[in-house]
Amino acid sequence: MAKKLILLIHTGGTISMAQDQTGAVIPGKENPIAEQSAQVSDYANLIVESPFTLPSPHITPEHMLQIKKLIEKYYLDSGIEGVVITHGTDTLEETAYFLDLTLRLSIPVVLTGAMRSSNEIGSDGLYNLISSIRTACCDEAYGKGVLVVLNDEIHTAVNVTKTHASNVSTFQSPQYGPIGIVTKGGVVFHHTPKLDLKYSLQEPSKKVVIIKAYAGMDSRLFTSLSELGFDGVVIEALGQGNLPPGTVEGIQSLIKENIPIVLVSRCFNGIAQDVYGYEGGGRHLKEMGVIFSNGLNGQKARIKLMIGLAQSCDHQFISNMFK
Ligand code: ASP
Repeated sequence: MAKKLILLIHTGGTISMAQDQTGAVIPGKENPIAEQSAQVSDYANLIVESPFTLPSPHITPEHMLQIKKLIEKYYLDSGIEGVVITHGTDTLEETAYFLDLTLRLSIPVVLTGAMRSSNEIGSDGLYNLISSIRTACCDEAYGKGVLVVLNDEIHTAVNVTKTHASNVSTFQSPQYGPIGIVTKGGVVFHHTPKLDLKYSLQEPSKKVVIIKAYAGMDSRLFTSLSELGFDGVVIEALGQGNLPPGTVEGIQSLIKENIPIVLVSRCFNGIAQDVYGYEGGGRHLKEMGVIFSNGLNGQKARIKLMIGLAQSCDHQFISNMFK
């Protein structure tokens, strides 16, 4: 079978780093995963790009937009049949979800990374890269949205999250699981994801903050947000979607200023809903105009709200996005 044409984009992260004599993991002059790219040419014809080499805590929405434009350019100019992006794992899920919401292409787009740098024992970078190329070349990967492939598992951008600080099986999709696996014999999909709508984005200029709720929280953080220039807020609420009563005044002041508030649960599993009718309970918050996120985690809800606000500040439009 003819090899497919895959765009391989290196953006940095541990997969592009090495450990020094002191044990610190650092980027060097050369990018080890870019040098190893030749070893994956057995699987695909590659176009390789390195728009920047950054640890992923340095990645911003502007970088995500840069990656999106690069993919669109190569799709139009070169007819690429798939994309693989190497990325730091810390914010990988945010870039994946950004691309999932904004790219209107059905070719496979796969993000991958590594938990161990290039010269550490058990380094997983090259292995994950090969698994990702194999997935991007697989016909069944078409039309499945943006995918994340590490440690032999295929996850959707919408559900995947980094669950462990150092373990190689860190990427999981709580409640839902992976949609496929990569085996020695082939790439196997066992679920078909439900795809979200796509949104346009010219400039990621809207500022959205994530705030985590805690016992005894008051309104001060909320009342200072508009002065700080934030356009939207995601709150990681307690349990099924509740907040301490001390926050209600702050929530009301944000709503009065038309700053949308999206609620997610700070619980690892489950969906925030308008169940409780007490002061600060989900029912009370919904009646006040708080938007419930339908199961996204805080960092994904933030990406979605930021993209939505760039398109429209209309409350109905924003709440429809989270249905
Ligand atoms: N701190 C690193 C990063 O996100 C972690 C990694 O790549 O795994 O760039």
